[in-house]
Amino acid sequence: MNIVQSAAPPLSPEWIAAFRDIVGDKYAVTDAADIAPYLTEERGLFHGRSQLVLRPGSTAEVAAICKLATAHKIALVPQGGNTGLVGGQTAHNGEVVISLRRLDKIREIDAASNTMTCEAGVVLQIAQQKAAEADRLFPLSLGAEGSCTIGGNLSTNAGGTGALAYGVAREMALGLEVVLADGRVLNLLSKLKKDNTGYDLRNLFIGAEGTLGIITAATLKLFPKPRAIETAYVGLKSPADALKLLSISQSMVAGSLTSFELLADIAVDFSIRHGIDIRDPLTSKHLWYVLMELSSSRDDARDALEAILAKGMEDGIVDDAVIAANLSQRAAFWKLRDEMSAAQKPEGGSIKHDISVPVAAVPAFIAEADAAVVKLIPGSRPVPFGHLGDGNIHYNVSQPIGANTADFLARWHEVNAVVFAIVMRMGGSISAEHGIGVLKRDELPDVKDKVAIELMRGIKALLDPLGIMNPGKVLWS
Ligand SMILES: Cc1cc2nc3c(=O)[nH]c(=O)nc-3n(C[C@H](O)[C@H](O)[C@H](O)COP(=O)(O)OP(=O)(O)OC[C@H]3O[C@@H](n4cnc5c(N)ncnc54)[C@H](O)[C@@H]3O)c2cc1C
Repeated sequence: MNIVQSAAPPLSPEWIAAFRDIVGDKYAVTDAADIAPYLTEERGLFHGRSQLVLRPGSTAEVAAICKLATAHKIALVPQGGNTGLVGGQTAHNGEVVISLRRLDKIREIDAASNTMTCEAGVVLQIAQQKAAEADRLFPLSLGAEGSCTIGGNLSTNAGGTGALAYGVAREMALGLEVVLADGRVLNLLSKLKKDNTGYDLRNLFIGAEGTLGIITAATLKLFPKPRAIETAYVGLKSPADALKLLSISQSMVAGSLTSFELLADIAVDFSIRHGIDIRDPLTSKHLWYVLMELSSSRDDARDALEAILAKGMEDGIVDDAVIAANLSQRAAFWKLRDEMSAAQKPEGGSIKHDISVPVAAVPAFIAEADAAVVKLIPGSRPVPFGHLGDGNIHYNVSQPIGANTADFLARWHEVNAVVFAIVMRMGGSISAEHGIGVLKRDELPDVKDKVAIELMRGIKALLDPLGIMNPGKVLWS
C-alpha cells in the first residue's frame, strides 16, 4: 500500500509558535513521546509521523487553526477517538494533527424536540448516557463506543449494531457545524426534520472522513427510550437459515427488531479463546450463530422473541437458542460479539474487508468468498461476522496456522481483489461502514462510477482548493 505521498515540509519554529498562540502552550503537543499515541492505532496497522498535535478547545480555535494553515498551506489531519479502521485519522506524511477531543460539551438536550446538540469530541458512550438521563435513546452503538467520538462517527458515517432499526450515523444527524479549510464556520446546526431550502450541504461532510472540513458540533436525533429490550443468542446451521430467521423476525415484529448479527463459529471460538471472561452462551457447538435483539415501548418483547424462536424451531431453522435472563447476561452476549475484532489479533495476520451486498445475497457471498480465498491462499481462515440485517459482513481472513505473518499480509491486495470482484458482481459496496481512508483508496476508482469520482474531485477542489484537509485520504491528492 502506497501511503506516503509528497511529505509535508517541516514546520518552522515561527509557525509552531503561531499555532501555539491559538490553543495555548498546554495544548500544542510537540514532544515526540506525547505525540506518539496520536500516530498509531489500536491494531498497529498504521504508523504516522508529525511534529505537532493541536488540541483546540473551541470552534473559534479550530477556525483560527484552519485560517493559519491556509495562509501557509499547512496540511491538517482531523482526529477524534483514533478508533478508525482505514488509516483516515493518521498523519502519514508529517501533517499537523488536530485532535477534537477537548470539544466535549453537550450544548443542549431538547427532549421535547427529541434532539441533542453536542460538540464533535463528545465520546459516543457519553452521548448515549446523556440521552438516557433525559429519558431518551441515542441509538448509535458500536464496539469502540467507549472511545470514538461523535465527530468521528459522523465523519465515517458509522453504522454499528442499531443501524437495522435506526439507520446509520447520517440518518441520526439533523444539523452540523463545520469549520472549512479556509477557517470559515459553516453553521448548519438545526433541529429541523423538514427543511427544503436548497442543496443538502450537511450530507457532504458526513462520511467525508475529514477531507472537506472539520466537524465541530452536531445536532443529533433522539428516540423514545425502549421500555423492554430482549436479546437472544441462537445456534443454527447456515447463513441461509439465518436469513430465513431474519425474514420471520421482520414479518412478526417489523421495526422492533433492532439488531440481527450473524457470527461464524470460528469468530465465536476466537472470542471465547482470546477474550477475557467470555463464555459460550449455548451448551453445544453450532456452525453459525445469530445474536438478535428486540426493543419495544411496551412489555411485549419477551413474548414476541419467544414466538419468533418457536417458529424458527418449528421450521427447522433454529437448532438451539437462549434468551438473556437479565442485563448482565445480555451484556455477556454482546461482549462476545464486541470482542470479535480484537480476538483475531492473537491468531496472527488478518486481512479485513467491510463489505455490503443486498441482504438476500449474503449466504451466496460468504460461500463464494470462502471458496475463492481458500483457493488463493490454502489454509487461510475466513472469519465472517457482522450485521446480516444490513447486508454488511466484516469478511476477515486470518492467516494459515503457522504461516509467516508478513508474507500473509503482503497478499492483502490480492485477497481484496478476489473478494471485491464477488462483491461488485453482486451489486455490493467495498466499504459498508469503515470508510475508504488510505486502506481502500487505491481500489475506489475501480469500483465507483467514473462521473461520481469526477464530482467528488470537484467538490474537494471547491471546499479545499489548497488540498490541506486530510490530504491523500479517500481520493489521491
Ligand atoms: C473495536 C471497534 C469496533 C468498531 N465497530 C464499528 C462498527 O460496528 N461500525 C462502524 O461503522 N465502525 C466501527 N468501527 C470503526 C469506526 O469508524 C470508528 O470507531 C468511529 O466511527 C470513528 O470515530 P473516531 O472518533 O475514533 O474517529 P477517528 O478514528 O479519530 O477518525 C476517523 C475519520 O474521521 C475523521 N474525523 C474524526 N473526527 C473528525 C471531525 N471532528 N471532523 C472531521 N473529520 C473527523 C478522521 O480524519 C478520520 O478520517 C469500529 C472500530 C473499532 C476499533
